[in-house]
Amino acid sequence: MWRGTTGHCPACGDGSLYDSYLKVAHTCGHCGAELHHQRADDAPAYFTISIVGHIVVAGALVLERALSPSTWVHMALWLPLTLALSMALLPAVKGALIGLQWSKRMHGFGGVEDAPEALPVATGDRATSDTGALR
Ligand SMILES: [Zn+2]
Repeated sequence: MWRGTTGHCPACGDGSLYDSYLKVAHTCGHCGAELHHQRADDAPAYFTISIVGHIVVAGALVLERALSPSTWVHMALWLPLTLALSMALLPAVKGALIGLQWSKRMHGFGGVEDAPEALPVATGDRATSDTGALR
């Protein structure tokens, strides 16, 4: 989870988890681990909203109670802070969730058991899979 939080590949910790701001890389550039099937869906936004909400709402209430500033002071302080905290925390939270998924071998939510893929094996002029089934 820490590797994901810092934006690194959960498998090796060296490669980058993201191609861009929140786009998960297809594969790790360092170890080649497949990352394309890691999907966190809405969970990063949910957890980020929960974290930022607790910080901003608590801060606004404490400030209001202590100094009772005018509304424009609250707006000038808390709106940019909300945006900045959300933008800063979202990649870290998403990375942590992908790290958790990776460690639990969830690989997204496909509902498919994690197993090596059967590679096709060419035998003569008939192609079969390594399970022996004809294709
Ligand atoms: Zn890697």
